[in-house]
Amino acid sequence: GLIYYNGEYINDNIAISPDDRGYQFGDGIYEVVRVYEGRLFTAEAHFERLLRSASEIQIELASTVDDYIAICERLIAENRVQDGLIYVQVTRGIAKRNHIFPESTEPVTLIYSYDSARPVQGMEEGVKVITLEDIRWLRCDIKSLNLLGNVLAKQQAHIADAVEAVQVRDGIVTEGASSNVFIIKDGTLYTHPANHLILNGITRKVIKRCAEELNIPFVEQAFTPDALYDADEVIISSTSLEVTPVTQIDDQVMAIGPLTRKLQQAFKEKIYPAS
Ligand code: PMP
Repeated sequence: GLIYYNGEYINDNIAISPDDRGYQFGDGIYEVVRVYEGRLFTAEAHFERLLRSASEIQIELASTVDDYIAICERLIAENRVQDGLIYVQVTRGIAKRNHIFPESTEPVTLIYSYDSARPVQGMEEGVKVITLEDIRWLRCDIKSLNLLGNVLAKQQAHIADAVEAVQVRDGIVTEGASSNVFIIKDGTLYTHPANHLILNGITRKVIKRCAEELNIPFVEQAFTPDALYDADEVIISSTSLEVTPVTQIDDQVMAIGPLTRKLQQAFKEKIYPAS
C-alpha cells in the first residue's frame, strides 16, 4: 500500500538510512491511531500527544495536527482502509552516530496504515494478564520509540499465555506494557494518575468520559497488586484493545462485571455515534 515517508507518498519499499537516530538510539516518538469504517477516531488527541512527546524530547516539528490528519486521510482513501490502524513515527533525523543531538538535521516522518479488525473476542470473553516488575524508565508519559522494557515484558506475558504484562513499580500498579489498567471496586473506577509513570492513554480519556456519562465515579488514584486481585472488575484499554476485560491475573480468575459491559457499550457509541 501507499506509505508516507518524509514528505512523499511512496507506493513500494522505502530506503531507510542506517544513520537514522531512530535505529541507533530509539531517538524518536510514535503514535497509533484507530480507523473505524474509514474514519479516524480521536485523531486530534493522538496528534496533540505526538506534538507533546516531540516537545518533551526537543524535536521540533514543522507539521500541525491538521497536517498529520490530512496525511492520514489520504492514506485511508488510497489504501481503502475500513477498520485499521495508522502507525506514525518521527525520529530526530539522520546524522553520523553520536549521542549528542546533531546540529542540523530534519526529523524523519513515517506514516503507514494497515487493516486491523476490532478485538471482539477479547472484549467479549476477556483476557489473561500477568503482573511484572516495571523496569522501564521514568518518563513513561512520552510515547518514545525506546520500547525495550515494554517488549521484554510483553514477551514474558506471551510465554505465560497472557495478552498483557501489568507493570508494578514500588508496590504500585502503573499500567500495562501497551495499555492502561483500571479496577472497579464497589462501583468506583480507579486508574493510575496521568503522571510521568504512565502513558496518558487516549482510550483512557474516552473511558473517563464514558464513566462520567454513566455516573460511574472515576478516581485517578494508584492501587496495589493486592487491590488488583481484590477488585470486582479489571479492565485494560488501548487504541487497539478498546475496553478489554481481564478474566485472569497471574493464577487468579476474575469475573467480567456489569460496569465493564456498560463501559464497553458507551465506548461503542463513541465509535458509531449515529447508531
Ligand atoms: N500505555 C502504554 C505503555 C502504551 O503503549 C499504550 C498504547 N500505545 C497505552 C498505555 C494506551 O494508550 P492509547 O489508549 O492512547 O492507545
